[in-house]
Amino acid sequence: LFVLGIETSCDETAAAIIKNGTEIVSNVVASQIESHKRFGGVVPELASRHHVEQITIVIEEALQKANVTFQDIDAIAVTEGPGLVGALLVGVNAAKALAFAQQIPLVGVHHIAGHIYANRLERELKFPLLALVVSGGHTELVLMKDHAQFEVIGETRDDAAGEAYDKVARTLNLPYPGGPQIDRLAHEGVPNIDLPRAWLEEDSYDFSFSGLKSAVINTMHNAAQRGETIKPEDLAASFQASVVEVLVGKTVKAAKEYNVKEVLVAGGVAANKGLRTALEAAFEKLPEVELHIPPIHLCTDNAAMIAACGTVLFQQGKRSELNLNAYPGLDLERF
Ligand code: ATP
Ligand code: MG
Ligand code: FE
Repeated sequence: LFVLGIETSCDETAAAIIKNGTEIVSNVVASQIESHKRFGGVVPELASRHHVEQITIVIEEALQKANVTFQDIDAIAVTEGPGLVGALLVGVNAAKALAFAQQIPLVGVHHIAGHIYANRLERELKFPLLALVVSGGHTELVLMKDHAQFEVIGETRDDAAGEAYDKVARTLNLPYPGGPQIDRLAHEGVPNIDLPRAWLEEDSYDFSFSGLKSAVINTMHNAAQRGETIKPEDLAASFQASVVEVLVGKTVKAAKEYNVKEVLVAGGVAANKGLRTALEAAFEKLPEVELHIPPIHLCTDNAAMIAACGTVLFQQGKRSELNLNAYPGLDLERF
């Protein structure tokens, strides 16, 4: 069973071919980071234009590398949301055109469901599981009791973890995307600056990062006014310590409460070395729960994860019609 995955929700134009839901046959990602860098963030209109330029090339390359033709493809899985509407529309329209022309079934996939399913490209999922989703636009704890069943038990009330990383990086004059830059700096510094931890209510699995972000900015401004210097690496280390402590603390608590068999990490911030190390240390003390973090190239946006999730949906009988649209605010629990 071959599924072609297409992903264009943000600034990566991606296509991949997955065999039987788990085996990567080809995985092509055209990143636009260089184009957006000089603006310090993703420019939506620019992203759409790049997707239009790249989409055909990327899909053809995925087929070529996999050594298959459209005759071999059983389904086309495409990210229908959430994301930038103009960016999503390019992938959705390409998928619809191919599905119509080649008479191939079409399956719409939720981008975050895809991030979680990136884990199935490494090993079979064990339910119930808890997924810590940490990406550019999302920070969520998702409980899955079975395939394609997503229960959001906690989510950010303001900024996503990746967004906080990118904003703090910008304040420190680091290039976009800031996450990897802060991660690198953090390892050169000491977490000696007192920053808040947003635990929220005792029984809440929600997150909040905007207060922490403001605290970092205020710390810098106050120091500048007093003519003091703060080492950026110490600020990065202190910021990262706060983010990681809360993410790990809530994940461990939820894993225990819901008696899950495994904890999966998903999304771009899962590439963070500080987070990976802290999670590994925490779950070493909890041997009844397995911890799995995908390799970095499967944490950031790609189409292999969309095809992996799309395969499960296809096997469950989900089909999207040719009137499929792009849904910028698509809900994970109801897509
Ligand atoms: P979403 O998936 O929510 O729609 P997105 O697709 O833009 O958003 P991803 O591609 O999953 O997000 O992740 C990108 C984010 O990951 C960026 O905010 C980036 O700064 C962050 N990131 C990448 N590597 C690291 C790292 N090592 N440490 C911290 N953050 C990182
Ligand atoms: Mg991206
Ligand atoms: Fe993403």
